[in-house]
Amino acid sequence: MTQVSGGFAELDLLPSIVAAVHATGYEEPSPIQAQAIPVILAGHDMIGQAQTGTGKTAAFALPILCRIDPDRKEPQALVLAPTRELALQVATAFETYAAQMPGVRVVAIYGGAPMGPQLKAIRQGAQIIVATPGRLCDHLRRDEHLLSTVHHLVLDEADEMLKLGFMEDLEVIFNAMPESRQTVLFSATLPASIRAIAERHLHEPKHIRIAAKTQTVARIDQAHLMIHADQKIPAVLRLLEVEDFDALIAFVRTKQATLDLTSALEAKGYKVAALNGDIAQNQRERVIESLKDGRLDIVVATDVAARGLDVPRITHVLNVDMPYDPESYVHRIGRTGRAGREGRALLLVTPRERRMLQVIERVTNQKVAEVRLPTAQQVLEARIRKLTASLQPLLEGSEASHGELLDRLLTDLGCEPRQLAAALLAKLTQGQTLDLEQLERETPLVPSAPRERAPRSGEGREPRERRAPPPLAEGRVRCRTALGARDGIAARNLLGAILNEGGLAREAIGRIQIRETFSLIELPEEGLDRLLGRLKDTRVAGKALKLRRYRED
Ligand code: ADP
Ligand code: MG
Repeated sequence: MTQVSGGFAELDLLPSIVAAVHATGYEEPSPIQAQAIPVILAGHDMIGQAQTGTGKTAAFALPILCRIDPDRKEPQALVLAPTRELALQVATAFETYAAQMPGVRVVAIYGGAPMGPQLKAIRQGAQIIVATPGRLCDHLRRDEHLLSTVHHLVLDEADEMLKLGFMEDLEVIFNAMPESRQTVLFSATLPASIRAIAERHLHEPKHIRIAAKTQTVARIDQAHLMIHADQKIPAVLRLLEVEDFDALIAFVRTKQATLDLTSALEAKGYKVAALNGDIAQNQRERVIESLKDGRLDIVVATDVAARGLDVPRITHVLNVDMPYDPESYVHRIGRTGRAGREGRALLLVTPRERRMLQVIERVTNQKVAEVRLPTAQQVLEARIRKLTASLQPLLEGSEASHGELLDRLLTDLGCEPRQLAAALLAKLTQGQTLDLEQLERETPLVPSAPRERAPRSGEGREPRERRAPPPLAEGRVRCRTALGARDGIAARNLLGAILNEGGLAREAIGRIQIRETFSLIELPEEGLDRLLGRLKDTRVAGKALKLRRYRED
């Protein structure tokens, strides 16, 4: 027998709930659960302050399940959540924890779905309603007594709900509920607006506060890499070769960047999808499901699009673009190291972002170690390791299944087993060379940006703009366009435009450097005027390219 002593068993929860919780694999309550469960079980109002990923759902769901009466077929508990996604997550969690409580029904109420079936589910005796405030108010306008039997109210992520403008809806909901209810409020932050709500609508609440920040970060192994902005995509490709990840979420700042990185990764054979504000809700849910079940391994997301994304498989968070503030850094990397697992967070830092790195280190009270870009040698080693690992399980049994074919091939080809094995390897590793020299040629990359010297005041304003360009190859000239990173341009956009409309071969185009306000491209000197003529009207990312020869000095 496995031991079930301690932990959840000691919290006075119903045995059927403790059993369901153990069945989900939780071993012991998280700090917020250990503190909040007794308070909610005792019937107190409560304010719980804790960051994302601390286990708030079970902190309120478990005691509330204990306090409802499964035999009464009417709404008894209401949980409000800011978004449809979160409401669905909470409803699913309730169902999991109530798996051994026959007769308990949960209904999720949110916008974007027809109201009829939702109302029907309530009428059919759901005891627990999980809702977004807006849609619940729509229901209340049709039936003001809908919540008259609800004696437990939970506001989950209260600060997010206020940010989304649900203040008035919340007031409507409070007023539609019995006065003599229990109210529990969870929030990551407690701004004045939340304290005012608590003042008006909570009765002598107990305060619980989990200083989760350092704790959240503690299980996560953090590292940063200094890199120039125009080298981010090749750097990511190299990093991923040596990082041993299960699922990974990469954060970028713009929609375009989600698409650029996604297609670069796709081209390398990764199972990857983009998540940005343009992606429809149902598509978004498909992406998250696919990441959960392994049809996808990488999601490239903006902060907004990743809101509420919670996938335990995520072992790595890759911050390709810097977050806007340290809070969102903590939030981002909290997507890994979920519920006691180990996680790894990588941060790409451009020279001008050094300060932000220091702020992050100060706020999280941790050093974010520096790593170097993997060398071609390290990439090679990683590829060989992966190949070995993929062949290992096939050694057993393959001779039985493929021995005959092997004999036939050896006869037909008239070669030695070693020769054949080498040929098979060559075929197997096509596009993924295991030859060091070739690898070095394939992954040309300027070294990581130097970190040695912090810029003195007034000095480092635009360090990238002023860096001397590297020497040109024979027969090449540099050209300049006024389109740069701030226009949403990535190297591959320029490359694509010049290949398509300039009719050049890929080898004819040299280094492309994307700067904030302009970009430089190395092109062949021979035939340059004709080339620039052909590109005269070319547009990239909706803007005129206007490529000109660039005179240095
Ligand atoms: P929050 O609402 O605070 O962001 P969640 O309630 O969504 O956090 O929980 C985060 C993750 O941790 C979920 O995957 C959940 O299943 C898991 N989890 C919660 N409590 C425990 C526990 N006691 N042991 C292990 N995993 C847990
Ligand atoms: Mg939550």
